[in-house]
Amino acid sequence: MALMTAQEYIDSLRKLNTRVYMFGEKIDNWVDHPMIRPSINCVAMTYALAQDPQYADLMTVKSSLTGHTINRFTHLHQSTEDLMNKVKMQRLLGQKTASCFQRCVGMDAFNSVFSTTYEIDEKYGTHYHENFKKFLTFVQDNDLTVDGAMTDPKGDRSKAPSQQADPDMYVHVVERREDGIVVCGAKCHQTGSINSHWHIFMPTISMGEADKDWAVSFACPTDAEGMYMIYGRQSCDTRKMEADASIDVGNAKFGGQEALVVLDHVFIPNEYIFLNGEYEFAGMIVERFAGYHRQSYGGCKVGVGDTLIGAAALAAEYNGVEKASAVKDKLIEMTHLNETLFCCGIACSAQGFKTKAGNYQIDLLLANVCKQNVTRFPYEIVRLAEDIAGGLMVTMPSQVDFSSDTVVGRNGETIGEICNKFFATREGVSTENRQRIMRFIENLCLGAAAVGYRTESMHGAGSPQAQRIMIARQGNIQGKKQLAKDIAGIKD
Ligand code: SF4
Ligand code: FE
Repeated sequence: MALMTAQEYIDSLRKLNTRVYMFGEKIDNWVDHPMIRPSINCVAMTYALAQDPQYADLMTVKSSLTGHTINRFTHLHQSTEDLMNKVKMQRLLGQKTASCFQRCVGMDAFNSVFSTTYEIDEKYGTHYHENFKKFLTFVQDNDLTVDGAMTDPKGDRSKAPSQQADPDMYVHVVERREDGIVVCGAKCHQTGSINSHWHIFMPTISMGEADKDWAVSFACPTDAEGMYMIYGRQSCDTRKMEADASIDVGNAKFGGQEALVVLDHVFIPNEYIFLNGEYEFAGMIVERFAGYHRQSYGGCKVGVGDTLIGAAALAAEYNGVEKASAVKDKLIEMTHLNETLFCCGIACSAQGFKTKAGNYQIDLLLANVCKQNVTRFPYEIVRLAEDIAGGLMVTMPSQVDFSSDTVVGRNGETIGEICNKFFATREGVSTENRQRIMRFIENLCLGAAAVGYRTESMHGAGSPQAQRIMIARQGNIQGKKQLAKDIAGIKD
């Protein structure tokens, strides 16, 4: 089957029986819901750009499984160049949406489950790798969006999955049948889960022998019997439900999406199982998936950062301060921070290596350094953007006020006229454009998009401490000590 167009993708979602709940109610037409639709538009952009000849090299690639042309979001990376192109593609998508475009979690799951299943089969003679290749061929041929679901609720963090008072705190097998397994549990803050066609579930931590029933990975359709989602709300999200608030929303077209995904006795046929009890491989999937997603942030956050730097520069221009050396210097600092993140994304890709299964893995140390920087630099970029924009980005009256004809002034001036009078700026700049850029900055710094640009920079793909553990493991302090000893003439 050919690549889907953006419209075909949106239409394909309507055919699913995905169960979505929000504000205590079932949402039947979630595809057109004003709070959900922007996140669907973001994923649709991954389809639209793949149809655009100018982005063909970045967005499409030959499948290593079938030789067919596929969307890079469904690709198994075949070289370090593929890894770098992945990061560049993510930067492009960040630039075009100023949001989290969600489809990467599936891509990162494909690559980590592909290589891990190969190694499980090698040790145990299981057939998980064949299962996975068949599943991925189906995904590529149908150009599907797949959610990579990793983060369990975790309950008491001091206890292993098997020690939890409630066994559902980690996704687990509750029944083993001849033809498959039945699973229960949940995954928290799942990016893009609602508008994915399928899900790949993976364990979220390393596991011991007692955790066998929790060491499970599988694929299932998003509308599987027993599966449902409870939508996560975002800062300022109900602005999207207001009439005449497209400017106040800041980014009316695009947005991210997270949800709680619940598995209530979902049956998984054998052919969709990729790990089932081989507990010592749980850690391998986690480490590889986290590594890929930490690389991803060196692309997507950089693209979004580009839009924020552009918005700050426009705000300065609209306010008439773009020539001030302090403003120029702040824009340089923002650019420096943003490009440093890109350097990290490219570097961990360039230093990638071939796995036993044949696809390419990033350099783990550098990917963790990348993500550790992402937990810091976007915060500084946001601080500088707020500095340049000024307080107006959070104190401006509503869009409705700007067009209101309610009379307030002594001489019959309307609220709209008063707003437009006092929020006017330099000649040649409309008050509306000033409003638009201020709200855009507000959206990224502390509105709905701040979920993707700020908090997700902190906690997405693992919280900062998770990277520090990996940096400690990969940092080779012993080797560095020896270097110092050799030069300093220390003989033990
Ligand atoms: Fe993709 Fe970035 Fe969103 Fe992760 S946070 S899904 S890498 S856009
Ligand atoms: Fe993320």
